[in-house]
Amino acid sequence: MQLLENYVGGRWMPGEGKETTLVNAVHGNPVAYSRSGGVDFNAILEYGRKTGGPALRKMTFHERGRMIKALALFLHDRKDKYYPISYQTGATKADSWVDIEGGIGNLFANASLRRRFPDLPYHVEGEAIASSKNGKFIGHHIMVPKQGIAIHINAFNFPIWGMLEKIAVNLLAGVPALVKPATVSSYVTEAIFRDIIASGILPVGAVQLLVGSAHGILDHVQSQDVVTFTGSASTGQQLKAHPRIISEAVPFNLEADSLNCSILGEDAKPGTEEFDLFIKEVRKEMTLKCGQRCTGIRRAIVPAHLLEDVQIALSKALAQTTIGDPQVEGVRMGALAGKTQVAEVRSQVEKLLKETNMVYGNLNEVTLIGANAEQGAFLSPMLLVNEHPLSSTLVHEVEAFGPVCTLMPYANLDEAIEIAKMGKGSLCSSIVTYDNEIAKQFVVGAASHHGRILVLNRECAKENTGHGSPLPLLTHGGPGRAGGGEEMGGMRGVLHYLQRCAIQGSPTTLTEITSIYQYGGQYKDPGVHPFRKYFEELTVGDTVITHKRTITESDIVAFANISWDHFYAHTDVTSLEGTTFTQRVAHGYFVLSMAAGLFVDPGKGPVLLNYGLEECRFTKPVYAGMTLGVRLTVKEKLPVDPKEEDVIHKGIVKFLVDVFDETGETVAIATILTMVQKRVSS
Ligand code: NAP
Repeated sequence: MQLLENYVGGRWMPGEGKETTLVNAVHGNPVAYSRSGGVDFNAILEYGRKTGGPALRKMTFHERGRMIKALALFLHDRKDKYYPISYQTGATKADSWVDIEGGIGNLFANASLRRRFPDLPYHVEGEAIASSKNGKFIGHHIMVPKQGIAIHINAFNFPIWGMLEKIAVNLLAGVPALVKPATVSSYVTEAIFRDIIASGILPVGAVQLLVGSAHGILDHVQSQDVVTFTGSASTGQQLKAHPRIISEAVPFNLEADSLNCSILGEDAKPGTEEFDLFIKEVRKEMTLKCGQRCTGIRRAIVPAHLLEDVQIALSKALAQTTIGDPQVEGVRMGALAGKTQVAEVRSQVEKLLKETNMVYGNLNEVTLIGANAEQGAFLSPMLLVNEHPLSSTLVHEVEAFGPVCTLMPYANLDEAIEIAKMGKGSLCSSIVTYDNEIAKQFVVGAASHHGRILVLNRECAKENTGHGSPLPLLTHGGPGRAGGGEEMGGMRGVLHYLQRCAIQGSPTTLTEITSIYQYGGQYKDPGVHPFRKYFEELTVGDTVITHKRTITESDIVAFANISWDHFYAHTDVTSLEGTTFTQRVAHGYFVLSMAAGLFVDPGKGPVLLNYGLEECRFTKPVYAGMTLGVRLTVKEKLPVDPKEEDVIHKGIVKFLVDVFDETGETVAIATILTMVQKRVSS
């Protein structure tokens, strides 16, 4: 039998002390054992902070993103070997797919997120804030990686996804991590972790693994650390209240269990596509991963007059769920993670039965294929009914973390919203309706109590990702009982690992700090026109000031004719009374087009193409007789990853186009995006 090892301080080492045997959830035979002690928590946290942290902080967001992508590709190539290991936790192929490929997919999604960050080790957030009359003193925000370690304490249900969805985010942010999987399924995490280390893709110290107990680790957290916890509300709350978390002001992201619900819209009567979708979704959420999903539907809230129809249809659907050894052909639902979970679910259902009736399933009997209920951790799906949800409490408080759901009736939509909110904060809910008024009323009424709401109908049915699936670029987490956490969530997730700092100074200084030209900053003389320079040779702040051009009436008339834009203010001088214009005004797009005529250096050179425009404003009317010039400044440079087939390597250069009149005042301002060739194409 395999002894699981911790990967701490840069090496694999077994723990010491009390041994725990981990068993196959299907057949009950031992698969591995771990030791709970023998680890110096302070030393491993310090190792992460002092070794992994500095290495990651030297890298830019783009380098870290490419590193995560390389890791995703490496693990993807090996994914098949994780399935047999996952089956031992009772997971079916579909359950394992969510864990393994969902987890690797999360790495890919976070790797792509690098493009939303600068090619710097730190992030520049938002826009500059004008802080003075003459524009020579401004403010901005930068966000730097925290100099501590991310401690991830994870639940047992998704041993791979649970780890990867979290480390993807801290690694992109530039923060190292210590991963603590839940003991019962830690052998799955350990298996993939061995590959992560063997790949050599991550810098030394970037990740560590603790398979033994983490009791006491929070005694050693420091102010720059971040703790994320996924698990039961009771453990989470106890850890969040740890004196050290409070005294060191350590961010604690809590993702706890919740009493998620799904609502059947009043319009979704039997015979509609939505009714069938609802039945399918509730059944899926009850049986996928044996209902051991934090986002699972625990409460199904349906129109009172449809309660019986739903009960019949759902019972029929559940009766088709074949249960047993996940590796036997045709089995749709496997085992729970272990006997302890079975006992836990039974005891929670017993509590729920004080307020409900069981209308499908059995607490003690289950029909199995290829497995034995004595040996494995099996339970049948159980459908309960509570007729009086508004006056009940247990159905809104007791989580049975297994294939269990309670049906409850509502009289009108306001009541459905009220019942949904009685969960006191959930990770997610869904409503199945083809009536967008119902959808809107529910979403607006229930959003305060939910981290995510899925609106499901025939239009999105084919492509929808399901009630229970958190997506890497959407926030996962919920208020109240769900813990108030915000895991993942695209850029929002990454920001949890960064420290925001307001920077004040001159635009010139802030240009250097942010690597983005700040309006009002000193110009740099590029020596030659910036269009003659290759990507590597351009410097933020490089500016060319063009020659000038006087606008004529015939320019305006000609542009109206060529563009067919005959808006009255450009064409009819008699119509200007009551407008802000005193004369026929030039088209904004003409001003911009003529600006290009002034700033473009036309000969063939490193600028390959112009592919767009951002943040364009026309700030002052342009009339015939005004004389305009352009200040063209390199604002920002962004890398582009070369594709294998690319002959020419390139980057994106954003130019600030500042069009000014004879008084020097800006009349139009825009950022143009150009693709610029690199001198070195390798
Ligand atoms: P749990 O018993 O609360 O344990 C969660 C994690 O905390 C495990 O890794 C556990 O390690 C660790 N832990 C327990 N006490 C600790 C302590 N004093 N110090 C440090 N670590 C400690 O939850 P679970 O049974 O694994 O997971 C099931 C629950 O998690 C369900 O209620 C489910 O709803 C919830 N869940 C929530 C989410 C979410 O995103 N919101 C996701 C999945 C699951 P050991 O295993 O070694 O005790």
